Amino acid sequence: SSVQINERPTTLNDIFISVKTTQKFHEKRLKLVLDTWFQFAKDQTYFFTDTNDNELNKRTNNHMINTNCSAVHNRQALCCKMAQEYDTFMESKKRWFCHVDDDTYVNVPKLVTVLQKYNHTKDWYLGKPSLRHPIEIMDRDNPGQKISFWFATGGAGFCISRSLALKMMPHAGDGRLMTVGEKIRLPDDCTVGYIIGHILKKQLTIVDSFHSHLEALWLLRPFDLDRQVTFSYSKYGEKMNIVNVPGFSNKEDPTRLWSIHCHLFPYLRECRSLQ
Ligand code: UDP
Ligand code: MN
Repeated sequence: SSVQINERPTTLNDIFISVKTTQKFHEKRLKLVLDTWFQFAKDQTYFFTDTNDNELNKRTNNHMINTNCSAVHNRQALCCKMAQEYDTFMESKKRWFCHVDDDTYVNVPKLVTVLQKYNHTKDWYLGKPSLRHPIEIMDRDNPGQKISFWFATGGAGFCISRSLALKMMPHAGDGRLMTVGEKIRLPDDCTVGYIIGHILKKQLTIVDSFHSHLEALWLLRPFDLDRQVTFSYSKYGEKMNIVNVPGFSNKEDPTRLWSIHCHLFPYLRECRSLQ
């Protein structure tokens, strides 16, 4: 006979949110995060960076983690941070590990309601692929053969249940994620996808409400924004890829994150000037 154990529903405090950042973006990107969505998840969010920043460390109640990874944009540095995000999550004992980049807006209450739909004691890898097909690489263990797997793009954010994260331990724990990244020579988010999809043979579940700047963000409908979990922004040359949302002027709010924030939470004091 089986016993049905009714778990309490997931709340914000069951979620570990890690933000990957780097020294040169503390001023340009992190302050915007700290002033906006971080206010809804102060105790749950940690920043993985590559320098000490006393001011931001104070503002985040000691949630700035200096990984001592190198401050460059290469595979080793990124996998080094992801490895520490993973290890810190494992120590946290929380139900869900959610990773985002520092150019991401997280709709915190929506993240909670989405995760409530999935059982953290089952294996879940939730996110949005950046490719329309699985990535294909040569199999270094079987020369001449190919491996293919799906991965959730780090820029859209992804979440992993504790059950699945536990199974990743032999491949990702204690810095082993870096070794895997070195072996397959791919960035951190692909390495996570490789461990889950290829080694563990677990599927990525696509969540359409996660959005990176690799998609056309201007196509999101303003009346739909409250159903979305993550947003991002970017600039390719002169062209901005940003969410089309009314609010502050483009000059005041070039990334649109403030306008998204005030569109979702119009009652906030910092949004009063828009009323
Ligand atoms: N990043 C980093 N070290 C670097 C450059 C970038 O850790 O030297 C982080 C950055 O803070 C962000 C992520 O990597 O969280 C992606 O960087 P970015 O948005 O600049 O590039 P993208 O890959 O999105 O084009
Ligand atoms: Mn980015």
